[in-house]
Amino acid sequence: RLIVFEGIDGTGKSTHIGHLRKYLEDRGVEVVQSFEPTRGPWGRMLRDSAVTGRLSVREEVDLFLKDRREHVETLIAPALARGAWVLLDRYYLSMMAYQGARGVDPASIRAANEEFAPVPDAVVWLDIPVSAALERIGSRGERDAFETEAGLTACRSVFASVHEPWMLRVDADAGQEEVARRVREALREFLPE
Ligand code: C5P
Repeated sequence: RLIVFEGIDGTGKSTHIGHLRKYLEDRGVEVVQSFEPTRGPWGRMLRDSAVTGRLSVREEVDLFLKDRREHVETLIAPALARGAWVLLDRYYLSMMAYQGARGVDPASIRAANEEFAPVPDAVVWLDIPVSAALERIGSRGERDAFETEAGLTACRSVFASVHEPWMLRVDADAGQEEVARRVREALREFLPE
């Protein structure tokens, strides 16, 4: 299974991946957890760019595709092939949202990715109001060029525009335990007892 966590910054993606991972491992499932941009050479350039805003959106698209291609080949596809569950913190839906918000057509981003990247079994979209996300980011004390009200609103609206059976919206504007419960509820058709 390929399960992806998506959402704007400050929604708790990594926290909830941790909860789901524990739930699965307690039931004997092999879990491979990863994130994008990766720690590889392309991913590193992208993280730097998110902070300094140096790269053009075209360059970002190019680097994200390279980074993801490598991620799929070296980690995601082999893990899926041996029956592990892969839990990802961001995937190509983030690219549709962030580079889409910077003016690239989200449908063309999606098509370019689906040429080589497996379509997820489920995307857990952790959704919170932009104002709540900004509050959480603010209290974390780090803020990149995209973490403004306009930027996050544009990203959120791309997530909201994806209507697919595998796109599972979870209202994440609640306490951590409650959101973890909602995530399991959204994924109930996949999860072991
Ligand atoms: O997942 P994380 O919060 O570490 O993401 C780091 C940053 O990378 C995000 O805040 C966002 O600004 C940026 N990003 C991006 N395009 C993507 C994915 C992430 O600009 N496709």
